[in-house]
Formats: sequence, structure tokens, C-alpha cells
Amino acid sequence: MKKILITLSIVFLFVLAFFYQKNQATKEVKSDEKKLQVSTSFYPLYFFTKEITQDRAEVVNLTKTGAEPHDFEPSPKDILAIEQSQLLIVNGNFFESWLDKFDEEISKQGVKIIKVTENLATIKGLGHHHDEEEHEEEEEEMFDPHVWLDPVLAQSQVELISQELQAVDPDNASFYQANATVLLQQLDDLHQEFTSQLQNCQNQEIITSHAAFAYMAERYGFEQIAIQGLNPDQDPSPAKIAELSNLAKSKQINYIFFETLVSPKIAQTIAQEIGAKTLLFNPLEGLTREEEALGQNYFTIQRTNLQNLSLALNCQP
Ligand SMILES: [Zn+2]
Repeated sequence: MKKILITLSIVFLFVLAFFYQKNQATKEVKSDEKKLQVSTSFYPLYFFTKEITQDRAEVVNLTKTGAEPHDFEPSPKDILAIEQSQLLIVNGNFFESWLDKFDEEISKQGVKIIKVTENLATIKGLGHHHDEEEHEEEEEEMFDPHVWLDPVLAQSQVELISQELQAVDPDNASFYQANATVLLQQLDDLHQEFTSQLQNCQNQEIITSHAAFAYMAERYGFEQIAIQGLNPDQDPSPAKIAELSNLAKSKQINYIFFETLVSPKIAQTIAQEIGAKTLLFNPLEGLTREEEALGQNYFTIQRTNLQNLSLALNCQP
């Protein structure tokens, strides 16, 4: 009897050891299958990347819902998230002013930094960026970073993001390629809608909050007059507000555009002064909580932009 018990115990131990090993093996396989980690600096790049990867990658949007990306500063937690990524996708052209401080450290961790606007930004405008040595904000002429608002240039951004994702994660390359193709088609559809709806318009100029719409304006043949510069935190002087009011009166501009992530106060002031209405024009630099809760995205917001633009420019169908 005792012998049988000992034999049984030994068999039991072997069975236990077998299962333990098997369990370890599955764990190893699982960690090999760890998903691609991608950090993106703000909403449009997050949206494009997410549309391409779907659930095959962990995609982080560093600028949280409701926040404005022009003055974003990463927290230590954000830096940690970036350093755990294989790719950091940013706009470039000084849009991410924080990157100067961190790019060396991030690259040292083996993170590849992709600047999707590098060769696309061709329009210059007045902006400011922080001078590290002088410790002050300098106003200067710089390349306008707001490339994503033109659906045609956005297609170039999507192509670049797709190529980089495929290079870093070749196992999922065909999946990414297929999703990118769908996204490019959707952007092309959007471009066709803009082209046809803005074909026959009475007005030429719009007044916007910050100067975010130059690429869209150039593509579809209207003119942007901005209350602020390339950054939304530059408040205009009373003289500038008076000048804009006179201009709006003389050009019979009936709508002043405001944005979701910056205060609408100045737009409202000018509108009141000239008896105009305010209207939303969204530079898509981030979603508000409300927009997110309503399931809004790049495309739904661009179509609202198109409706409002068509109203302000007095376009006929
Ligand atoms: Zn902007």
C-alpha cells in the first residue's frame, strides 16, 4: 500500500511539473506576441494611426481629450509611455515645441521619431516658438504646421504613417496596407465633397480664430483672415480687433468663426461689433469630451466644417 502511494505521488509530481512547464511555454509565446506600441502627439495623427492599425497596435494620444496641443508639455508618465513605444508619430515643424527638449533621450531608447509634415509644409506664417537660450517667446516667420486640415495633404500623411507601421511591424503589413487604402479613399471622397460644394461661392474671405486653415484655403480657393497667429494663445491688440471689424464690415462678412478648444471671447466681441454671427470652424487639434461622447471623428467634423464654410462663403449648390 505504502509503495503504491509513493508511486502515485511521484506520478502526480511529474504531471504537475509537466503542466507547469507547459504554462511557462504559453506565457513566453504570449510575450512574443506583444502588440506594437505607438505614441502619437495629437488627435489627427492618433486617428489616422488607429484607423490603420485597428486593434493590432496600442496607440496612445499624448494630448488628452479636451486639451489644446499647441501648448502641450509631456508629464514624466507621458515620457515613459513614449519610451515604451517603437514609434513616436509627430507633426513636426515646431508644432510639438516640447520635442526639442526630449528628442535625444527618446531616440536613445530606440524609439523612432516620425515627423509626418516635414516635406509637406510649404506655407509660411507668423508664429512663435520658445527660445531655449534666451528663455523667451520669439515671434517669427515659420512654416505653418496645420497640414492635416487639407484632405489631400492628409493623404500624404496617411501614406507615410502606413509605410512606417509596415516597416516596424512586417507581420501585420498587409493588414495595415489594406486599412490605409480604405482611409485614403475616404479622404479622397472628402476632398471631392469640398471641391464640389465650394465651387460656386459669393464670398472669398473668412475670419477665423487662429491661423489654422491656410492649407485648406489654398486647396479650395478661399482666403483666411485670422484673429490670432499660428498659435491660438497670441491675443490680438485692440487695434487689431478694430482693424478686423472694419475689414469684416467692408467685405460684408456675416460670420466670425470660433474654435472648440480656445476661448470664443474675441470672436464674439468682433461679431457683436459688426452685427455678425459666430460659427464653429474646427481645426481638429483635439476632440472635446462632448465630441468624443457623440462619436465624432476627423470625417464627421470636417463635414461640419464644410457645411459652415459653405454658409460663410455663401456658396450655391
Ligand atoms: Zn493650430
